[in-house]
Amino acid sequence: MKKTLSLLLCALLLCGGVLTGCDTGQKKSAKTELKLPDPVASTDNYRNFYQIFTQSFADSNNDGVGDFQGIIEHLDYLNDGDPAGGEDLGVDGIWLTPITPSESYHKYSVEDYYNVDSSFGTIDDFDRLVEECHNRGINIILDLVLNHISYKNPLFLNACEEVQRGKLDGDAQYFEFHEPDYYSADTKVVHVGDYVCEANFSETMPEWNLSSDKTREEFKKIAKFWLDRGVDGFRLDAVKYFENKHTDGVEFLTWFVNTCHELKDDVYLVGEDWSDDSEIKEYYASGIDSLFAFRFAQSTGEIVQSISTTEGQSLAKKISGYDSKMSEVKSDFINAVFLSNHDQTRIANALEGRGLEAEKFAANVYMLVPGNSFTYYGEEIGMKSDKNGSDRYHRMPMVFDSDNPQAISVEGEKTSIEPKYGGVKQQLTDENSLLNHYRALISAKLSYPAIARGRITSQCSFNDSAVGAYFIEHEGSKLLVIHNFSADDEKSLTVTDEMMKDPQVALFFGQTAKADVPAVKDGKLKLPALSSVVLCTKS
Ligand code: CA
Ligand code: CA
Ligand code: CA
Repeated sequence: MKKTLSLLLCALLLCGGVLTGCDTGQKKSAKTELKLPDPVASTDNYRNFYQIFTQSFADSNNDGVGDFQGIIEHLDYLNDGDPAGGEDLGVDGIWLTPITPSESYHKYSVEDYYNVDSSFGTIDDFDRLVEECHNRGINIILDLVLNHISYKNPLFLNACEEVQRGKLDGDAQYFEFHEPDYYSADTKVVHVGDYVCEANFSETMPEWNLSSDKTREEFKKIAKFWLDRGVDGFRLDAVKYFENKHTDGVEFLTWFVNTCHELKDDVYLVGEDWSDDSEIKEYYASGIDSLFAFRFAQSTGEIVQSISTTEGQSLAKKISGYDSKMSEVKSDFINAVFLSNHDQTRIANALEGRGLEAEKFAANVYMLVPGNSFTYYGEEIGMKSDKNGSDRYHRMPMVFDSDNPQAISVEGEKTSIEPKYGGVKQQLTDENSLLNHYRALISAKLSYPAIARGRITSQCSFNDSAVGAYFIEHEGSKLLVIHNFSADDEKSLTVTDEMMKDPQVALFFGQTAKADVPAVKDGKLKLPALSSVVLCTKS
């Protein structure tokens, strides 16, 4: 698997984005060549994450359900352990959606917090997955559902039995059991005897009482169970619903963050709060590392919208504003940026009709925002939902080889899709594929650690609504990220001394592998349509 650095640089020449200067001594062409610093594997919590819906990713035993062994067999595709070579995507973090036993196919209703669903394998298989991830420098985080539980979880069943007998001071305290008139009429509840339990998502998913000492003791045990098995952190589900009539959501999250840090110093936590900036900002006060930046994601989100309207300048202002707003409460927050997840229309559907160019460009836009990127499995090959409608269509089987698709069942129904650009195998051999574009982006981020770890100091205006740009600063280094949102026009930009002294192109993400890399000459830069450049000061 391991290859030399020079091979990597040559491989990158074949990739769909960055053109690097293989220092071969044969500089016959007039075009600018770039020499990237060596890529360095991350050892901290700044990662390019890959979200895996286990049941749809890779089925190792052909029973129609993706499993841990399937993931293990494809780890070399995700990251072969060598940051400077190989045919891997290069991601160095994995988020697994829930793997605990559950009758629901999505598994967000947890029947046992201390085991794995047998359809995915055994706990020993899971332990091997963690070990194999760590062997390759991949951090692995688990989806942890702390807002609700399955109505079939023995702890809840026992609580129900007590509540039926009118006993509220036992296991009922784990959950939101109250007199029926406790909640307003519009709160969703499940009825148990003479009482109700809050259940915002479904009657099959009653909610934990997050203010209860009993609950917190249980949560500490659950976190310890998985952290002791070597997982690197958690993706916390449904953070928005932590807050209720008698629970201060921020107080609870602060307690949980502190508890996890007591268990594991360098634990990484990212929360799902599908909400507006003000609520996300409140939750950052808990000390949590990351909260997903939903406003920029999904088909109706600001990245897709800005590509449609070509309003790049205003998007850069929003990204910059978001960075400074959240850093007011947590100066070292790690933004969590993504295009889509298991609950959303896939990005290839959202950008349908705009072509591969728009998908490559969307990748540039979110992956060059400081923080952690979260790539939903299949997004890197432009996988689409086959229809719109229920969530299952966003969770189709991963396509490793479009000539030999996997027969995986999604919600009990065998299904497969025909990816427009081919599967992993097909795209690896196409220098201009979306997959090779993603590979180039991730590799470049390992060459310039400041991109992920920096803060956006300000937006940079080129007085052109289609050009979005901002400065990133980190430990004395300064970068200028510039995107051209126009689908048709090359932009002639003037980089002034005030913006950056002696600028040079550090990175370029164009549409084809052989696209000319632009240069900055006398402060002038020509940026092609739907391409992105990162400038740094000449060293
Ligand atoms: Ca299987
Ligand atoms: Ca590699
Ligand atoms: Ca709740």
